[in-house]
Amino acid sequence: MYDFIVVGGGGSGLAAAARGVELGLSVLVLEKQPQLGGTTGIAVGSYTTSGSALQRKAGIEDSVEDHAEDAGKFPPPDIEVKNNAAYRHQFLSHAAETLEWLTGMGLVFHGPSPEPPNRVPRMHNVVPGAQAYILTLQAKILSGSGKILCETSVKKLLKEDGRIVGVECDRDGRTETFRSRLGVVLAAGDYAAAPDLIAEFKGDSFSEIEGINPNACGDGHRLAREAGSPLVNMEITYGPELRFIPPDKTDWVDTLGRIGWVRNLMGKITPLVPESVMHAMIKKKLVTWQHPEDKLFPEGAILINQEGERFCNELVTPDRETRVACQTGKIAYILLDQGLIEKFSEWPHFISTAPEIAYAYVEDYLRLRPDVATEAGTLEALARKRDIPFEGLKEAVQTYNQIQSENGSDPFGRPIGERPLEGDRWVLLGPAKAYFTTTEGSPACDLEMRVLDESGEPIPGLYAVGQNGLGGQVLWGHGLHIAWAMTSGRLVAEGLKRMDEAS
Ligand SMILES: Cc1cc2nc3c(=O)[nH]c(=O)nc-3n(C[C@H](O)[C@H](O)[C@H](O)COP(=O)(O)OP(=O)(O)OC[C@H]3O[C@@H](n4cnc5c(N)ncnc54)[C@H](O)[C@@H]3O)c2cc1C
Repeated sequence: MYDFIVVGGGGSGLAAAARGVELGLSVLVLEKQPQLGGTTGIAVGSYTTSGSALQRKAGIEDSVEDHAEDAGKFPPPDIEVKNNAAYRHQFLSHAAETLEWLTGMGLVFHGPSPEPPNRVPRMHNVVPGAQAYILTLQAKILSGSGKILCETSVKKLLKEDGRIVGVECDRDGRTETFRSRLGVVLAAGDYAAAPDLIAEFKGDSFSEIEGINPNACGDGHRLAREAGSPLVNMEITYGPELRFIPPDKTDWVDTLGRIGWVRNLMGKITPLVPESVMHAMIKKKLVTWQHPEDKLFPEGAILINQEGERFCNELVTPDRETRVACQTGKIAYILLDQGLIEKFSEWPHFISTAPEIAYAYVEDYLRLRPDVATEAGTLEALARKRDIPFEGLKEAVQTYNQIQSENGSDPFGRPIGERPLEGDRWVLLGPAKAYFTTTEGSPACDLEMRVLDESGEPIPGLYAVGQNGLGGQVLWGHGLHIAWAMTSGRLVAEGLKRMDEAS
């Protein structure tokens, strides 16, 4: 019997367990994968908050009220209108103290960096990367009364007399049950890679689109639903967006960051590292995950598939992404001619950005991501390098140019009047795929992170955090998801401790 059980060993689950252990509770973390981390473990690691010590050190005056107002300016209005304002305000009012809690455990942050429309810099980036959260929290859990079991997939919630009292899991092909005294905390991440949930809530045309984290299968959402909770805001997703496929090799900074003493050393020297070096490190991350800018297409870039053919109106999204997901291998390439290469080699025409921190241009991709950036002097050589039939590519470019020059009509409905693709330098960016980054729906929750039933009453013993416990909040922009994962994890453990003391 444990005081509480956490379903999922990503950011929010580990934060809940680490805080529980600190407060003297016995905690069991069950993780489906062979390793901890989830989406948190592959993230950039930005943490956005107001009122932090780093902001004060930089002389920035800020308030939760200002932050709450600015947070509402990031999402499009039709999405922001669905936000659970009370919940997001409560989160923002606890995010800075969570950052101090993390710093107290030895994590080091760089920043704050600006990200408009935030009126002041609020983005803090963990050093050297998001794996640092996982390793630090794991160490805290294992230093106390916490237990972690990997390769243990929770399949069912155990209910007795209307109360959730434990879980049933699949462990090494065997069914095992674990019981909890105070509650079960769902922390199983999002459903970006759950085609059935995506089809149900967004429509069939989105179901071929993958999640960046292929293990984000919505298990927590399913468990809550089976327990009687309605799912809210399930149609809201971050993406789909075009992104380049991930590199084969892990970044050396991430690899080094897995070694405890190296991570600590990196943390200590961070304040001494010149801004330009920090930005170079961030640029490396940028070309790994940030999406290519939409403005490439109105400037004249076209999308082609592995057969060398155009297949969509590149200017219309999310239709463009749903069509990419239907091509061979679900991949596409962005074709740039000489004019576009020159244009996207200097400000303000970048390929991707972490706004106001780093900007990546064509040369950055050719240098840092040769696996997704191919250059040649002729279309034929370009096609050969990517194993694309030259005839297909030639025809796609010729037809496109002909439509431009003859004021013709584009078979995919793209407006005419742009310029032809030509010159002695060509670049293919890709393979790119359409991905969901994350999803914003979750079971209904109250401000104490209790999961609610259809009538709005808490389901006794059931809690949800991170992407399982958004409770109708809309989190847009960089850094709020990790701040929420950590904050909700910390707060749920504190709530369970208070409940324990009161009983
Ligand atoms: C490429 C990328 C970069 C990002 N960068 C940032 C960033 O810099 N800042 C930011 O704020 N947000 C970022 N995000 C989003 C953010 O990382 C996530 O929303 C957040 O970390 C999710 O935390 P979580 O604890 O809810 O889920 P996760 O970290 O995904 O953890 C869920 C865990 O539960 C496990 N699990 C699932 N089902 C079961 C089951 N049945 N039984 C047991 N275990 C289970 C999973 O394997 C996983 O380990 C990024 C997302 C992506 C894809």
